[in-house]
Parts: sequence; C-alpha cells; structure tokens
Amino acid sequence: MLNKKITKLLVGTNNKGKLKEISDLLPKTIEIYSPSDFKIKSPIENGKTFEENSLIKAKYFSKKSKMACLSDDSGLEIDILDGDPGIYSARWGGKNGDFVKAIKRVFKELSKRDNDWKNKKIKARFICALTIYKNSQKIINSIGKIEGYISPVMKGSNGFGYDPIFIPKGKKITFGEMKPLQKYKIDHRFKAFKKIKKFL
Ligand code: IMP
Repeated sequence: MLNKKITKLLVGTNNKGKLKEISDLLPKTIEIYSPSDFKIKSPIENGKTFEENSLIKAKYFSKKSKMACLSDDSGLEIDILDGDPGIYSARWGGKNGDFVKAIKRVFKELSKRDNDWKNKKIKARFICALTIYKNSQKIINSIGKIEGYISPVMKGSNGFGYDPIFIPKGKKITFGEMKPLQKYKIDHRFKAFKKIKKFL
C-alpha cells in the first residue's frame, strides 16, 4: 500500500508563497488541499533542523487531516551570520510574516558584523527539507539547496519571503526579479522535490 501513488495530498503549509510554488510543481492529476481547507493551524516548530521541522509539520498535518501530507521547511542561511536566519527565517518576519521587516533585520545584522558588507559578496543559500507522511509513517524526506549571494538592495516583486535579496550563484538578478518558472527550475524546493517525485 505504501508504494501506491498518492492521488489526494495535503500541502502542509499555511504560507501562501510556498503553497503556490509546491502546487505548481505537483502533477496536475493530484487533488491538492491546504491546512486552511480543514481550518488546521500550524504546529509549533521546535525542531533543531530543517529536516526535523519538516517532519513535525508533515506528521501533524497528516494526523489532523487523515490525508497524505507533503510538508516543507525551508529558510535562508547567511554565512557571516553563522547561518542565521536559518530555521528562524519565518520568525524574523514577526507574527504577521512581514518580509520587509525580516529583510531589514538581515541588513541590520549584516551591518553589525561588517560595515562594508554592501561592497562584498555575502555568501548565502536557501535550503528546503521536504517530507511525505502517510498512514502514520514517514514515507520519505529530502533536502535541496541553492547557493548564492545577498543583494544590498531589495529587487523585484515576484516570489515571496527573502526572494528580493537573494541572487543565485552564476546569475545577475534576484529571485524576486525572476519569472516564477525561471526560479522554480533552479531553486532549493525544486531540487528537494526531484528526489521525492516518484512517490507522487
Ligand atoms: P517555514 O519553513 O514555514 O518555517 O518558513 C520558511 C521561511 O523561509 C519562509 O517564510 C521564507 O521567509 C523563507 N523562504 C523559504 N523558501 C523561500 C523561497 O523560496 N524564497 C524566499 N524565501 C523563502
């Protein structure tokens, strides 16, 4: 039974940006639900890694909805901030998920570390952990990463979260300036998704 293809899936996130991106990656034959369809709130993410938090969400949402769940835990790691905001990426946006606020905090923390950071290449990466949980069991989890740099100014209005300040390695524009399909083909979520695709 575990290997049977999933036909109905709860995408375990209350983040609209992620829900859109994951839904766009999924086969069109799958019926997609979100926690808001069942009025399920998000669980407390008290894991220490992206993998742990992704499993916490997948298990919680699957149990509450009695459906197969695909969950994502992701975030931005900045080397000179010792990996911050990392698993706290959403929390830097505050209760209302205000990403201008989160980005301002990134700029503030970078200035505290290095006054001249705007003239340097600030290494960063997006990380995504995906987990599929079904019938009280973890089916699979995977990790995807994309390396890049922090833009000293916000650019572009596509995407969500930290997209306006992330320039992927080898490109000249931020994720926020890219067309959605251009971002989806190279990003951390897509890389993690490739590894679990066969279960869907
Ligand atoms: P969580 O996984 O729901 O705890 O939140 C992850 C947070 O990381 C999001 O709210 C965004 O701030 C950030 N994040 C994750 N993936 C992306 C992305 O593809 N673009 C921009 N920000 C992202």
